[in-house]
Amino acid sequence: MSRLIRAVIDGAAMRHNVQVIRARAPGARVMAVVKANAYGHGLVQTALALPEVDAFAVARLEEGVRLRERGVRAPIVLLEGVFTAEQLRAAGRFELELVVHDALQVELLAAAPQAHELALWVKVDTGMNRLGFRAEAFRAAYERLRALCAPGRQIRLMTHLAAADDPDGQMTREQLARFAAATEGLSGERSIANSAGVFGTVPVGGEWVRPGLALYGASPLPQRTAGELGLRPVMRLETSVIALRRVPRGETVGYGATWRAAHDAEIAIVAAGYGDGVPRSLPSGTAVLVAGQRVPLVGRVSMDMIAVEVTGLAGVGVGTPAVLWGADLPVEEMARAAGTIPYELLCGVSERVPLESA
Ligand SMILES: *Cc1c(COP(=O)(O)O)cnc(C)c1O
Repeated sequence: MSRLIRAVIDGAAMRHNVQVIRARAPGARVMAVVKANAYGHGLVQTALALPEVDAFAVARLEEGVRLRERGVRAPIVLLEGVFTAEQLRAAGRFELELVVHDALQVELLAAAPQAHELALWVKVDTGMNRLGFRAEAFRAAYERLRALCAPGRQIRLMTHLAAADDPDGQMTREQLARFAAATEGLSGERSIANSAGVFGTVPVGGEWVRPGLALYGASPLPQRTAGELGLRPVMRLETSVIALRRVPRGETVGYGATWRAAHDAEIAIVAAGYGDGVPRSLPSGTAVLVAGQRVPLVGRVSMDMIAVEVTGLAGVGVGTPAVLWGADLPVEEMARAAGTIPYELLCGVSERVPLESA
């Protein structure tokens, strides 16, 4: 039996992408964002495959702890910080850096004896309206943290861009102006750019960049392909054909009988479904690669299977390789067909899909 679904991870492509990011942000340090299981690429494997980055960023404490337990020594930033005294103690124990984005976190730090030892990033909300101190509250929070930190320890400054993928750049320029005004005169390294900020039309600067998606070789800009940006896809979601059938003209394929054969059709059943993270919303006609050829999805995505039409395609049999996305079929294309973004597809690769190194 041929091999069923797996996500093949190309570490060399990921390291190449780091170099492309460095070239776009000369002199900036790279904080590789590996939250959400490294966008589906495997948290620990990804961190271990990237010895050349300057830091890692995760969303949750557990992710940071896991990296430490698996021997990752680089700085690790908790992008959402901590929410309880217990989490704060764990962050100290595992030497995790904290983003401080609201007053409750300042209170937690003020009450913690180890606060002065922690490396802190203060987040300014410059218009995303998700996390961070609004400009008018930022200075007071900053001064409070300054007083808690050991003398000489720098507090770093960050913000997050809401629309860095917009070629117009208006919102990004407004956010940059607010960030500059809020942090004027303060020492401390700054971090502004996510992937779209690194590749977008407005230069955003900062001593640190925080790429996620671009590391994994997908384009953060809707109007540019990864290839145009010099990025190489890191994940290939690969599986194989598990059955072939001839569907007579007029019959339907799959749940809901949504696709009807307009002619006698050869249909390949491919072992990949929404149980693996293939979106159920994909319409008939979405491209899949079978034996390296683009073929159309037919009918609904099932939990464990999809059907594709391979009429007239030579050399397709049980065991023929099929690719949902990868270097020859960008994940961005399937994301668009599903009405979503590549982030959601990559993060959505489910636990039953084994990760393998290329
Ligand atoms: C997720 C995240 C990033 C990375 O974003 P990409 O668009 O994947 O590059 C950077 N900064 C923060 C605060 C994030 O939450």
